[in-house]
Amino acid sequence: MVMGASGSKLEKALGDQFPEGERYFGLENFGNTCYCNSVLQALYFCIPFREQLLEYYANNKKQGDLEENLLTCLADLFTQISSQKKKTGVIAPKRFVQRVKKENELFRGYMHQDAHEFLIFLLNELVDILERESKAAEGSLGPPTPSEMLNNGQVWPQANGVHKEALVTWVHKSFQGILTNETRCLRCETVTAREETFFDLSLDIEQNSSITSCLKNFSSTETLNAEDKFFCDKCCSLQEAQKRMKIKKPPSILVIHLKRFKYMEQLGRYKKLSYRVVFPMELKLNNTVDATDMEYSLFAVVVHVGIGPNHGHYISLVKSHDHWLFFDDENAEMIDESTVQTFFGSAQEFTSNTDHGYILFYESISARR
Ligand SMILES: [Zn+2]
Repeated sequence: MVMGASGSKLEKALGDQFPEGERYFGLENFGNTCYCNSVLQALYFCIPFREQLLEYYANNKKQGDLEENLLTCLADLFTQISSQKKKTGVIAPKRFVQRVKKENELFRGYMHQDAHEFLIFLLNELVDILERESKAAEGSLGPPTPSEMLNNGQVWPQANGVHKEALVTWVHKSFQGILTNETRCLRCETVTAREETFFDLSLDIEQNSSITSCLKNFSSTETLNAEDKFFCDKCCSLQEAQKRMKIKKPPSILVIHLKRFKYMEQLGRYKKLSYRVVFPMELKLNNTVDATDMEYSLFAVVVHVGIGPNHGHYISLVKSHDHWLFFDDENAEMIDESTVQTFFGSAQEFTSNTDHGYILFYESISARR
């Protein structure tokens, strides 16, 4: 197969600069599983996530009580890649893909799937597994810990899910941020703030724009009026209000999803927006509650290739040890950093360039230092 050749090409291209201990493996496609492969590569090169996953697996495997689930399948795949003798090659993520299909019927067919939907499904599933494990561990520990006691010494009911001092897992530590949704009643000026957690920000996009302007729109003030009024607790009635979203706690890994697939009511179907949206290598996030700038650095991009939402292909661009690499299922190649800008999108509607940045992965620079 050609892939072996492309692997050694990458090895040659990196030569002496091949990062010590790093492995670059393409992933076999099992029939339209590029949505999965592209996300797996981005996650593999998300170093804090990879390290914690490998550590989790190494620690728990010793105890020998791991039943197969999506988390163990993913950990097993990452362990396989990182422990390869060869520096480059191809791996078949067969067990992981089978597990995905088993867990979620949405991904069972051979249809083209949405990489963003898959990423969010995967992160939520990992969190669920870790939470179940932590609960099971708590249950087998005997006497309840103080946090499990009510004031009168009663144990929190475990089964009905009331007991929830939201567990912060290592998946949360990497990806979770907190948004504040502020609503100001225009009659009494009372501000109601509601917090929401997120694993990613889904941004509306415009032609010839940038991530910074999309983020600005995301946090811009929206007026709630007419049909859309807000129930103010103080006024005890529906009132006009102003609403805006701000980032209260920026995540350490910021995942940005560009809403390129838009439902067109006139057409009665989804359409892909090929808009040119510039994403910088270094991003300043300034729509935070305390107005401090958070700085991020781009390390992976999942790219959608194709003209429509129901057909197409996914590839990923990944930054590793200051080199940019391009993963297209089995193939891995080195690319120039300047090539990344060819994935911003198209300034005209009809163009031959159909490869567009779809999910962006930024890591906080401040967290790394
Ligand atoms: Zn009010």
